Amino acid sequence: MSIFSHPEFDQHEQVNFFHDQETGLKAIIAVHNSNRGPALGGCRMWQYGSDAEALTDVLRLSKGMTYKSALANLDLGGGKSVIIGNPREHKSEALLEMMGRALESLSGRYIAAEDSGTSVPDLQVMARYTDYVAGITERTGIDGLPCNGDPSPATAYGTFVGLKAAVAHKFGTQDLTGLRVAIQGVGNVGFRLAKHLHEAGAELIVSDIYPAFVERAVNGLGATAVAADAILAQEVDVVAPCALGATINDQSLTLMKAKVIAGAANNQLEHAAHDQQVRDAGILYAPDFAINAGGIIDIFYERTGHTPDKVRTHIETIGDTLAEIFKRSDASGEGTGVIANRLAEERFIR
Ligand code: NAD
Repeated sequence: MSIFSHPEFDQHEQVNFFHDQETGLKAIIAVHNSNRGPALGGCRMWQYGSDAEALTDVLRLSKGMTYKSALANLDLGGGKSVIIGNPREHKSEALLEMMGRALESLSGRYIAAEDSGTSVPDLQVMARYTDYVAGITERTGIDGLPCNGDPSPATAYGTFVGLKAAVAHKFGTQDLTGLRVAIQGVGNVGFRLAKHLHEAGAELIVSDIYPAFVERAVNGLGATAVAADAILAQEVDVVAPCALGATINDQSLTLMKAKVIAGAANNQLEHAAHDQQVRDAGILYAPDFAINAGGIIDIFYERTGHTPDKVRTHIETIGDTLAEIFKRSDASGEGTGVIANRLAEERFIR
């Protein structure tokens, strides 16, 4: 298993391996780039098929965080951690405490947040041994409601702001009245996005594999429900992927009638080549790591002085960043994803 010549290595500053025999902790913490500040990113716990798979995942995700935070103009670098193991079987208080000690040993070069396989209570256990965890304190969320650290309200608001910027660019209007939006997945982020859109007068079409979530949107927001496999082919203006990755692929591009893709899901492009293909199909794609940065903005302010107004004001800059990306994409003819990467690099490479 190579490190420095690993295909995903991409000039990582630091890759740390931790092992503790007593608790069974096996973890990797990767710091991709800290030019803008300490590296912040989720701590994922997953039963990887091999150590090599875990390394690939942590390197890829850590780099992604550098780009996301830079694009959001945050004083943060990019990092990520993975704990190798099945969260249902191998997670214990002692193991989480040991992870806390591992985080502490890096003296703040990396700050962990929750991710797949870890929860706010897990991070609170790590916090017994370190200050370098984020997204765990009670506060007032940007929606004015009490929040235990869940970034979803902030992510949903940022996605709403970004969707409006995309609509303004594509259709030349800020008015969402009557705009038809298909939302794939109405969970934590998707449902809150649906609420913002409903309040702005949009017409909603939704799908979810969990029927109770579909009913919540139908009964609460007057949404129309469609089958999960039909959502991307709807006659709508906007598709908002808020469930899974790889929504933008060869198959969906032949079916899609929407002229805008603007949703919160991570890794929406199945392959890098779909970035250009989506543009060539006349569809405006709001790059996922630009539009879904509301959550990390929220977490950043938790460490530096959180007020709902400060967070809201910063989240609203997502619209400006996207407007810049769309303008540059039109000027060069390149996909918005490529442009977003380049803009992020302008913001973090010294
Ligand atoms: P969630 O699990 O609360 O919601 C996802 C919803 O999608 C669930 O209700 C699930 O039933 C549904 N779903 C799964 N497969 C589906 C399918 N094939 N068709 C339709 N619906 C399907 O997750 P979330 O926190 O709302 O996050 C949604 C997406 O946004 C994820 O990709 C996540 O990585 C990304 N994201 C979330 C945040 C955040 O703050 N929560 C931040 C950045 C990115």
